[in-house]
Order: sequence, then structure tokens, then C-alpha cells
Amino acid sequence: MTKKIKRRSFLKYAAAGASAAALTHYLSPLLTAKQSEDSPYVNRSTGKKVEGIASTCAGCRAGCGIVGYVQDGQLMKISGNPAHPVNNGTLCLVGQAGLYTAYDPERTLKPLVRVGKRGQGQWKEVSWDEAAAEVAGKLKALQKRGIVLETRGGFTEPVSREFLSKMGGGTLVSHDYVTSPGRKAALMGTFGVAYDVPDIPNTKYILNFGANPYESGPFGVGTIAAMSSARAKDSSVKLVTFDPRLSATAGRSDEWFPLMPGTDAVVALAMANVIMKEGLHDQSYIDRNTNTNTSQLRAHLAAYTPALAERISGVKAEDIKRIAVEYARAERGVILTGGGVSKHSHGTSNERAVRLLSVVTGKLDRTGCNLTPKGLDSGSAGGADDVAPEKFYHDLKEKKQKVGAYIVHGCDPVYSSPEPEEIKKILADEAAVPFIVCMDTHVSDTGLYADVVLPLTTYLEEHGLEKAPGASGSPVVCYRQPVLPAQGDSVPYVDALKAVSAKAGHSLGFDDSEDYVGSLAAKVEGLSGEGGIDRLAKNGFYAPSRYAGNQKRTGRVEVAWKEGPRLPSFEQPGEYDNIREGEFVMVKYSPGAYREGVTENNLLLKEISHTNTAFINTEAGKTMGLKSMDKVNLVSPLGKLEVEIVLTPGMQPRTIAIAAGCGHEGYGNIERAKCFKSEDPFTEFIWWKNQGSGVNPNRITPFNLDKASGGQGWMLTKITVEKA
Ligand code: SF4
Repeated sequence: MTKKIKRRSFLKYAAAGASAAALTHYLSPLLTAKQSEDSPYVNRSTGKKVEGIASTCAGCRAGCGIVGYVQDGQLMKISGNPAHPVNNGTLCLVGQAGLYTAYDPERTLKPLVRVGKRGQGQWKEVSWDEAAAEVAGKLKALQKRGIVLETRGGFTEPVSREFLSKMGGGTLVSHDYVTSPGRKAALMGTFGVAYDVPDIPNTKYILNFGANPYESGPFGVGTIAAMSSARAKDSSVKLVTFDPRLSATAGRSDEWFPLMPGTDAVVALAMANVIMKEGLHDQSYIDRNTNTNTSQLRAHLAAYTPALAERISGVKAEDIKRIAVEYARAERGVILTGGGVSKHSHGTSNERAVRLLSVVTGKLDRTGCNLTPKGLDSGSAGGADDVAPEKFYHDLKEKKQKVGAYIVHGCDPVYSSPEPEEIKKILADEAAVPFIVCMDTHVSDTGLYADVVLPLTTYLEEHGLEKAPGASGSPVVCYRQPVLPAQGDSVPYVDALKAVSAKAGHSLGFDDSEDYVGSLAAKVEGLSGEGGIDRLAKNGFYAPSRYAGNQKRTGRVEVAWKEGPRLPSFEQPGEYDNIREGEFVMVKYSPGAYREGVTENNLLLKEISHTNTAFINTEAGKTMGLKSMDKVNLVSPLGKLEVEIVLTPGMQPRTIAIAAGCGHEGYGNIERAKCFKSEDPFTEFIWWKNQGSGVNPNRITPFNLDKASGGQGWMLTKITVEKA
């Protein structure tokens, strides 16, 4: 741990009088866990010392601590930080494979200016000075037609807002990869926080509606470790999953119920009804802590009988009753929700309904239950001009959104929007969108339509500061610092904004991205007196307390809303009203090796997950005369996708599942399963080249927005299946 720590930024912003030099009272857990100055890591072949640098993964927003092992300036390996309270040394495959993105031979390492038509991918390399001047000039000229900045949320959100403001104002389209718009709207409206934390290490019962923590977000690898360890230590800790697909989590559950997509809400409301009828609810919690009362809730829930829920969802009424009673009787219980609940046209409503189970049983903000701590938000979208990404794409398509200059950072709307072919047509039209800038590590599908591409560093080459929940909901401050030098002419996003802003004659108020992150760290309560930035740089995190009282959510639980259904309700998706024999609901899922905007073109991860077959229930497939690996077309009103199909008992009979993350047109040869020569000899041996790179399921997904949040109903595209 000999890395020289730059402290000027932190000290400049830290409160006067804070003792940033009081370093002796903490010892790096990293050092005590594995490595010490006297006994460093060495390379077993060369005997050379290998330096370990603590940092934070950004494969997703879980905030896992990593250690980058560096020898002679080369990153050799990424491991989990054993002392980190978020992941306790564990890392998922995406975290471990980050090195392949950083050293990807197809990264964009110079600023590019378009020379061909939009979409053709023809460029000339220019200097940063020229590129920043070109972007600044265009933003000034097009300001009146509207500037849109589409970006990732998190620690860069304040500087994104400041940049827009300095450029004369604009619209921020912010992706929150921790959660979906519907989930966030429901949690904000009900509990006043954007994220909750299931206290899995201390729970007795895990009731999972449509989440798949063993494979994908919104939970990180720490959740998997906590779940496995809780169940290994105590075999009575039960995991029950409702999901149309036998996901990695459903497969590890004690019980799996394959319900019809989008019907979780009616199952949950029937369970709440049973709990109240059986007298297993927590009357004093409801009457004291919520804005409704027991008698109102009882009357409202009476219509949601288990028999009704069985008719709609396919889950047997007796199972609904039994699971409801088990969950209510468990001394401690958590609810998990995933995209299966909220990525629907009534996603906000669905999420409210499922969350009611924690409320009626009083399983909130106590050990082993769902915790709603303050202090986990890190500036996600919510300003006056903010808009959810899918609502923005929809309004762009409908010509309701004015865009003079469109800046896209680390996102890929040409791939990830519903109806992407329509988005492509709009972005190809210079009259509709006069100027497009992409800031990314690669030329993405959207990058192919850019006028200027600005090359960004990966998270392994930059500074950052995130907040994430540690054990029992305690907020952990997670520090990111470079574990390898910036490759080529790539720069961190924050520095790219600064360069453009400077060319437009504005200062963003910091020297560089390290300085910006130092200013954020200086605002972390208590950090100055506990080692300041040096502590962050040495350990990679700062965990001030275990769910301290002052971090607890305050105020009532807002069960009753003024807008939308007053009390949590089930709203039947319109698509189901006329679903006919032979029609299916297509749901997308995220494989473990895929994280949108992060894993594309990663050689190691593409080897694991490169194409997407579709899955159908065995009996449903046989009825149609299909067998596994037959080629079929998935058909929606927008077109068809040819895929191989697999018959499995692990699917709800009216549902087709397909993986997201395949079928890109941008990035590089690796993403498109093509062999090529590079400094990495393995790029000549892409053994899956004959299997292709799969299809983009969004191409047949029509817009279907949740009015309450603007999020897309991804999980209910109605399709037919025909032999190809
Ligand atoms: S869970 Fe997310 S943050 Fe943790 S290692 Fe995996 S990708 Fe990285």
C-alpha cells in the first residue's frame, strides 16, 4: 500500500479545524487481513512486489470494494476487498472481469469526429482541444433549441447539473441503475427513500417477488453472500420466490411459484388480506405509523381473495394462504422486489402493493426486516427538468421533446430504448437532432450516430465516491481511485465536462476529477476526524456507524396516496384483456455476465454469455410441435426476431423469456463475435463466432409506459411464436 495519496483536494474542502492527520487510531483492515508493508504480495514467477490498491467496482451500483493488484504499472488482477462491509471480499464475475474492459484492444482512446454519414461509423481522430472546442461551440449555437444530457446517476450527478446550468440550462435524463423508475416512485412515495435494504443476515424469511439477486441487480454480490451464509448457518431461514421464470434465485429457493407476469400485486394483496383476516397483522404499527388505519385497510383488501388471485396469477389459493401465514408468523422477514414487479405498465402500483406486506406485518425498520435508512441517496434525478429515460425516448419519438444538442454519457438509447429502430431514424436525421455527442469507453450503438465521440476512462482509471448499504443497512462511503493509468487520451467524465465547459468560457469550480471527488469526500460527516481522504485511499471505504439512529427514516409510512389508486391496488395490464390462445408474454432477464453499459465487448464475459436463446414451457412448446434448439420467430406488431428456442419446465406456460444484452451493432468485433488480430492473441480465437452475437429483444418491444413513473413496461410484450 505504498501508493502516494494526493490530499490537497480533500484538505482544501474539509471543514476548518478538522483533524485530517489523525491517522494512527485506525489500522487498515486490508493490511491486517492479508497484506502488510513487511510482507507484501509478490508475483510467484518473478518474485517482484505486487502493489494492492483499494478501490470500488462500478460494474453495477452495489459499491463492492475491490483491490487492484498492480505490478510495474500493469493491472494483474482484481479481487474483492476482504475488509469491505458491502461485499466482505466477494466479487461477482463482472467485478473480476473488469480488467478485460480496461485493456480491451477495441476501446476508443482518441476523440473522434464523424466524417461519414451518421450510422456509418466513419471517423477522423482529433485532439482533445479541437474536440472540446467543437462541442462547446455547437452547444452555444444550439442552446435555444434545447440541450439534453443523458447520463448515469450517482456521484457525478451534481457536476452534470452544474454543467447544464453553466451552458444555459437543459434537460437531464438520468439513469439510475440501482432501481427502476416504478420501484423508485413507489418507495419514495411510500417510505420517502429511493432505496430500501433487506436485512438478510438477520432474517428468518425471504419473500422474493421477481428479484434475481443470484444473477443480477438491483442487489450486488454482497446480498448473495449474505443470503447463502444466513441459510447455511440456519436451515430454517426460508426463501420463497414468485417469478414466471426459474431464475438462478428461484432455483435456489425452498419454493418457487411461476406466476403470470405482472400479477405479483394481486398475489401480494391477497396475502395481505389473509394476514388481516387471520389476525396476524400488526395493528399498532399500522395505526401509529401509517396514514391509513386497520379498518380502512381491512375493508379495502377484502375484495382481494386468494381465489381471485389464483384466477389471475395461476398461483394456487391454498399456497397464497399458506405463504401469507408463514411470512406473517416469522419473527423477522424481508421482502425483495425486482424488475418482475416494477417494470410494468402499472409498475409503481405493483410495487406499492407488494410493499404493503411489510407494512401490515410491521416488518419495517427493525432487525431482520426491510430497512429504510436515510443517507443512501447520492443525488439521483429529481430536478425540475429531469425526465425518466424511457419517457424521454418516447417523447423524442412522438416529437414532443425538443433536442438541439444531445449529449449521451455511458448510455446507449439506440440499443436500450423500446422501439430502437424509431430512435435510430430520429438520430440519423440531422434536422431532427442537429448535434450528438457520445462520451464513452467505446463507440456504442448510439455512438455510431454521434458527430463527436469523446473517449472516457473506465472506472478502473478514475476517482469516484459512492454510497452503498453495508450490513444491516449502515451507509458505507465507497471510494474509487485509479488502479491503472488512463489509457490513451481517455479522460474521466468529470474532466471531459470541465474541458468542454472551459472552452465555452465557464469554470465548474474544481481543478480535475480527483479534486471534485475530494470536495465530495470533504462533506462526509465525521470523515475529517477519522483520517480523511488518506483513510479512504488506504481502505477504499468509510463506514461511520451501524445503522445509527440519526440515519433512520423519519415520518409516517404513506400507504394512502392522493394520486393514482388511493390505497395499493392491482391494476390489470390492458394487454391481458385480449390475450388469445397461441399468444405469449415476452419477459427479458439480465444474465449474470451482463451489466448494461459496462460489460459490452468484454472478451471474458462475452465468452460466457454471447447469444440469447428463448425459453418456453415444455408442454406449451410440445403443443406447438417444437423441440429444443428449433429456430423460431418471436413476432410482435413491430417485427420478428429469429432465435433458437429451448423447452424447459422452468417457465410459466404463457411466458417466453429471453436474455438482454445481445445483438449490439456498435462496440467492437468482440461484441459482434468476430475474430480479429490485436495485441491480445485471444481475439483471434473467438470460438463462438459461428453462433453469432444474438438479437436485441427491444427491437420487438413497443413503448408501454407506466404513467406514474415514466418507466417502461418491459415485462409484458405480447408476442406469438412461429417456426422459422
Ligand atoms: S455486484 Fe456489482 S459492484 Fe459488486 S462486483 Fe459485481 S458488478 Fe461489481
